[in-house]
Amino acid sequence: MNEKTLLGIIVPCYNEEAVLPETFKVLTHVLENLVDEQKIDQRSFILFVDDGSADTTWLLIEQKAEKTARIKGLKLSRNFGHQNALIAGMETISRSTDCIITIDADLQDDANVIPEFIDRFYEGCDVVYGVRRSRDEDTIFKKQSAMAFYRLMGKLGVQLVPNHADFRLLSQRAVLELMKYREENLFLRGIIPMLGYPSAKVYYDRQKRYAGESKYPLKKMLAFAADGITSFSIVPIKVVMSIGFLLVLIGAGIAVYALIVWLLDHTISGWTSLILSIWLVGGMQLIAIGVIGEYIGKIFNETKKRPRYTIETATYKTRQEKDS
Ligand code: UDP
Ligand code: MG
Repeated sequence: MNEKTLLGIIVPCYNEEAVLPETFKVLTHVLENLVDEQKIDQRSFILFVDDGSADTTWLLIEQKAEKTARIKGLKLSRNFGHQNALIAGMETISRSTDCIITIDADLQDDANVIPEFIDRFYEGCDVVYGVRRSRDEDTIFKKQSAMAFYRLMGKLGVQLVPNHADFRLLSQRAVLELMKYREENLFLRGIIPMLGYPSAKVYYDRQKRYAGESKYPLKKMLAFAADGITSFSIVPIKVVMSIGFLLVLIGAGIAVYALIVWLLDHTISGWTSLILSIWLVGGMQLIAIGVIGEYIGKIFNETKKRPRYTIETATYKTRQEKDS
């Protein structure tokens, strides 16, 4: 290969001041080695995307970017969420790089397997998934809930790569293809297998968060899962409909029973059954309306076609600025 690959590593950061100095060190080290071994172009760089942090994250990035050309920064105007921060980074550098790698700022993903990613890329893979070998460092609850989520998504017909988060390599054409998916809530883990390009998995051990706290508390995790499900599948609506039919059938059964009892001239002790059915059926109806509302909400959001992120500033000129 004559032309060396220009690699851009994208790191989303939300209030990560505690880990950033270490992240700079670890990632720069990995990148320098790759450049020294002449595996990648020497203009390769790391792009830190500040997702509207409230701490000194951006200050740290700016200072570092001033000192070294290896490190660049992109600042979003507010918190747009992990997925949108990744998309912002990818969209910004996709045309100026041959491949990109996304990795979390907290060093939970093992940056030392990045050279393996590059090897797979040279072997012709457009997508390389980083897959966790063990989840020893996660809580039992997080492990169990993640397993349940993969199972559920599989049943709903969405192919996710188990134990793969957002640590992956994408070739330029994979990124460009990905950007054609315009939905506002882009669930990267679900969409990327749908691209269908040649892919490989690289296994690594997931570490404890180096410093700082998880930005995915339970509430956000559940929202993320619900979003993943309703973005890809209308099975929940169908389930609700089936339950509705079942209830109507039970209702018909009760009606027949009541008729027979009445014909036999027994009094029906009415109150209990009546009040129970009112509550049960009322509850089911509310659930059904809720599920349908979820989908209508999605449609509502998508029809607005709002931008997925807004860039406030960058430590270098962004593509949009250059074009204009
Ligand atoms: N993150 C982000 N925006 C957010 C939340 C998180 O850019 O709104 C970043 C965060 O800085 C980290 C990555 O996304 O680099 C993953 O977040 P975290 O480590 O908190 O998630 P966990 O590993 O606990 O699932
Ligand atoms: Mg993390």
